[in-house]
Amino acid sequence: MAYSAPRGTVDILSDVSGKWQELEQLIRTICVNYNVKEMRTPIFEHTELFTRSIGDTTDVVTKEMYTFDDKKKRSITLRPEGTAGIARAYVEHKLYALPEKLQKYYYMGPMFRYERPGNGRQRQFHQFGVEMLGLESPYVDVECMVMAVTVVEALGLRNVKLHINSLGDEESRNTYREALKKHFAPALSELCFDCQQRFEKNPLRILDCKVDKDHPIMNNAPKTIDYLSESAKNHFDKVCALLDDLEIEYVIDTNLVRGLDYYSHTVFEIISDDPQMGQGSTVGGGGRYNTLISELGGPEVPGVGFAFGMERLMLALGNAQNEEDGLDVYLMPLGEQAKDLAVQIITMLRANGFTCDMDQCDRGLKGQFKSADRYHAHFSMIIGDEEVKKEVVNMKCNHSKEQTEVALENIVSFIEEHFEGGHHHE
Ligand code: AMP
Repeated sequence: MAYSAPRGTVDILSDVSGKWQELEQLIRTICVNYNVKEMRTPIFEHTELFTRSIGDTTDVVTKEMYTFDDKKKRSITLRPEGTAGIARAYVEHKLYALPEKLQKYYYMGPMFRYERPGNGRQRQFHQFGVEMLGLESPYVDVECMVMAVTVVEALGLRNVKLHINSLGDEESRNTYREALKKHFAPALSELCFDCQQRFEKNPLRILDCKVDKDHPIMNNAPKTIDYLSESAKNHFDKVCALLDDLEIEYVIDTNLVRGLDYYSHTVFEIISDDPQMGQGSTVGGGGRYNTLISELGGPEVPGVGFAFGMERLMLALGNAQNEEDGLDVYLMPLGEQAKDLAVQIITMLRANGFTCDMDQCDRGLKGQFKSADRYHAHFSMIIGDEEVKKEVVNMKCNHSKEQTEVALENIVSFIEEHFEGGHHHE
């Protein structure tokens, strides 16, 4: 049989993996800049972690999880998102007891959701996310939002908008839940089966429904922002004031409720109108979660975070081939003796930090020059019988087309002198 990758998965072939590395590097640089440290948690966890934290009325948990029993009949799930794992590790390793009360983490890696593939949706996709744990402070909400905006701006995305909303605290959410139920009750029989379930368990989710989104009752649903308690309102006002002071543009979007259950207070999304992304696409989002850590058996520690879909971020990175991606040297041996010598030289050059490769196919000059060209080699190093005998190599600069005979012991200094202007890989 012919094998193909499972539906909804994508091979990242070597012609684009360089671009992925570029994105990862840019993200890591910004994280260092914000003093945010990487945490790597397992790709699978006990299923209960996700049902507990994400919420068992959400689409992610009810329909989209990759769940299976392992050989000991434990229910295991491939992670659909990154926050739960970080929160679990934070509790398990008692990181809340560290002297620094505010702990800031980031993660990057594959996530798994059983969704209908297509239109930017995959079953294995990648997220980059940040979690800031330890403080219920509007300053930290804003640090998180500014960081998220910084990432998309660093990618060169234009027309980026920060959409924010507040879901309020426990008290606000309870009053709001009652208001929602009162609003939806008369039309309940016209809503989809899922929404009828949500009505009892979590009416907030009805606002997120993809099936009923055009039902007229959605239009004038009560807004969370009108049900905020005094302290929740103060928190949100401070967030807005800080964003104003920093001159970060934002829109208060009262329809924004986010798909996961654990959010409270501030929620936000980054939406781009850049033509590359398509009008109004969500690049990522996040929000505050104040009960998640205690839900998972930890103390009452608040947190705030965000996640970006990395496939979306990749769309933003230009396709420009970077000149500096070329090889410093492509070694072109002609014959077995030359090849033996080339192996010696290439090992020595790589140890000296030069990027190089050599012909392994025993081709003639013409074929080897083609490879040098495809790899954008700065130098072609030609080694024939004559060169072996004389203990020299023939260095051809592929930019100036100049050829120079260089004694074996002078190769490194010759290349270094040439790169003095400083455009080879460190
Ligand atoms: P969420 O964790 O649902 O808030 O998603 C955060 C971001 O991850 C979204 O804005 C998307 O960019 C990305 N994302 C979520 N699900 C998928 C998927 N199935 N395929 C590709 N990207 C996704």
